[in-house]
Amino acid sequence: MALIVQKYGGTSVGSVDRIRNVAKRVAKTHDQGNDVVIILSAMAGVTDSLIKLAHEASPRPNKRELDVLLSTGEQTTVALLSMILRDMGYSATSLLGFQADIRTDAQSCSARIISIGGDRIQDLIRERHIVVVAGFQGHDERGNITTLGRGGSDTSAVAIAAAIHADTCEIYTDVDGIYTTDPNICHKARKMDRISYDEMLEMSSLGAKVLQIRSVEFAKKYNVPVHVRSSFNEEEGTMVVNEDDAMERLVVSGVTCNKDQARITLKKVPDQPGISAKIFTPLADAKIQVDMIIQNTRTGGETDLTFTVSKADFREATEISKKVAEQIGATEVLTADNIAKVSVVGVGMKNHSGVAATMFSALAKENINIRLISTSEIRISCMIEEKYAELAVRVLHSAFNLDKEPC
Ligand code: ASP
Ligand code: MG
Repeated sequence: MALIVQKYGGTSVGSVDRIRNVAKRVAKTHDQGNDVVIILSAMAGVTDSLIKLAHEASPRPNKRELDVLLSTGEQTTVALLSMILRDMGYSATSLLGFQADIRTDAQSCSARIISIGGDRIQDLIRERHIVVVAGFQGHDERGNITTLGRGGSDTSAVAIAAAIHADTCEIYTDVDGIYTTDPNICHKARKMDRISYDEMLEMSSLGAKVLQIRSVEFAKKYNVPVHVRSSFNEEEGTMVVNEDDAMERLVVSGVTCNKDQARITLKKVPDQPGISAKIFTPLADAKIQVDMIIQNTRTGGETDLTFTVSKADFREATEISKKVAEQIGATEVLTADNIAKVSVVGVGMKNHSGVAATMFSALAKENINIRLISTSEIRISCMIEEKYAELAVRVLHSAFNLDKEPC
């Protein structure tokens, strides 16, 4: 007997019929003698429609009230599932975020979980109830309803699993697991059996949108094994776990691509102490996240400095950079948003040499020019022209022997 947390995403609870399907799975797990805690998302599309409604009502919806509105999506699904389970003869109880005592900070619309009471959930489990908790929501210390940012029910699930010391946290979604790359780009993508927390963190921050990144941070911190799998079949999915020896034998585990990138270059920046701080402080003050940064070598007391931001921040970052350029005497600001970042990720890289050389050669063979390069211990990223993004993913996938065997 185990204590199992299961989270079902929006498409898995997208209609009453689908919720019935979820109920059957939940019942089966419970019948096997396990204690189960279920976390649900809103029905697919509901959070988007609620956001739209809010913008119809107000050009700038108040964030506290937006949280009150958005939390209703999950309130609906937990009630429906609990009703269905009760009709099937199970004791099921739905809990909203505040009832499950999910405390967060006061940051409306992107709150962070601070603590989870857990007592109410534990008491109900002891009475053999199936506990159905609304994902994505919590409450701050003044009792305001908060939400955790888009995709936040993954984080609810992992945090609850950590708080109640669950044996496993299953994330049910509409894909079979985590793939070596996006199967829509490369049909030779393979489902991975296991991936380490660190690789998953690199992959999700690079655009693999299976799990909210914060949920992986939680899972790593509290060592919660996460099983990402489909709610539409019985196949095993992908285990997101601590690094193990088998993973280290593989040099590269996955290839990702992120087109949400834009590049800004400041030309002829004076090469003096304090200049980088002058450029990046106003960007930080404007809450703009800078990704890659490259400074060229100095020529005649000057250098060029290039960095990337997301497309959403591009315009604001350009305006800020132009102002700074004037202040520091940089001659020109060049920008481009037709770029993409392709990355190879793998914990095995730590003990292997030649990964960068293989990556660069594979891109060179296709005549793909590399504009910027950045690395971490377990990742190498190259900035390339956006039109080559898909091709680059496919050639890297085969260069690192990730292609699935032809069947
Ligand atoms: N319903 C929320 C969203 O669409 C939270 C989630 O599904 O994880 O972002
Ligand atoms: Mg999601």
